[in-house]
Amino acid sequence: MNIPGSGLAKGLAVTLRTLTRRTQTVQYPDAQPELAPRTRGVIGLFEENCTVCMLCARECPDWCIYIDSHKETVPPAAPGGRERSRNVLDRFAIDFALCMYCGICIEVCPFDALFWSPEFEYAETDILDLTHERDRLREWMWTVPEPPALDPAAEEPKEVAAARKTAEKMAAAQAAQAAQAAQAAQEAQAEQETKEAKEDGA
Ligand code: SF4
Ligand code: SF4
Repeated sequence: MNIPGSGLAKGLAVTLRTLTRRTQTVQYPDAQPELAPRTRGVIGLFEENCTVCMLCARECPDWCIYIDSHKETVPPAAPGGRERSRNVLDRFAIDFALCMYCGICIEVCPFDALFWSPEFEYAETDILDLTHERDRLREWMWTVPEPPALDPAAEEPKEVAAARKTAEKMAAAQAAQAAQAAQAAQEAQAEQETKEAKEDGA
């Protein structure tokens, strides 16, 4: 049986409950939202790492990554070596009007050239301006957060271990060279002293 006014009482109870709860909304743009560390806002390009392998453009489900490049011949590193050719990036652009923020391009890039930035304030009045060219994609790089610290018990990353071993080998080779040079100098000095002593004796 419906008691008259019970609906109103229920409604007021809900209002009172809601009034005492912590608010879930923020007054954007006056207050900035607290974003999760792995927020997908916009994609940054670190073009020094890009080898123009085209994997990201091929795997993008929306075909919204545009890459142009040309080949350049690199002279051999040592005399008698072979010339090599390398790709040089001419254009790298992402059309954020088409992008669906799936993150596949970032996942597949084998050279760590693409990163998520949490920045999201890049709305435009002209849809064409949502195609960000390489300079703008680079600017986003400076807003990419630091990666989280590794677990202290984690295995050393392969590339860090390889770089450390190479640095240790180079330091050992340099130390051996310096020791050889010092020994040669000592021997030369001893030889010189012996020669001088013989001359004095004669
Ligand atoms: S996030 Fe997805 S849709 Fe957007 S550019 Fe990368 S692969 Fe394409
Ligand atoms: S996958 Fe990475 S390295 Fe290859 S073209 Fe894309 S951004 Fe450059």
